[in-house]
Amino acid sequence: MAKILIIEDNPANMKLAVMLLRNAGHFVMSAVDAEAGLAMARADHPDLILMDIQLPGMDGLAATALLKHDPATASIPVIALTAMAMRDDVEKARLAGCDGYIAKPLRYREFYAAIDAELPRLESRSPGTLSDSA
Ligand code: MN
Repeated sequence: MAKILIIEDNPANMKLAVMLLRNAGHFVMSAVDAEAGLAMARADHPDLILMDIQLPGMDGLAATALLKHDPATASIPVIALTAMAMRDDVEKARLAGCDGYIAKPLRYREFYAAIDAELPRLESRSPGTLSDSA
């Protein structure tokens, strides 16, 4: 189980993502714009952030760059959510500091796989586990 923050302005995508995360046993926090999401990330330090790229006001790329340049939040993995499933956008997300990428519309297998890809990193932070292989 992880504490996951999702920042997404589309109500249907938010509803689906929250349902999928809760079904997997995660604790979910949500924000509908980057400014509110940044405040939650700083205050609550989630284990993982799902970041919509197209947001009203500050976009998800700018918000991710801010998180990754702040020592208080730089270690939190960020997975980009975007409908623009093009190589150029994947590159932009990586350059902004995103650790992973999920294309919309959300497909549950791809969604869980992208999140599970970050879980070993989360577990490796816990005391008492075997040293990571990275
Ligand atoms: Mn959006």
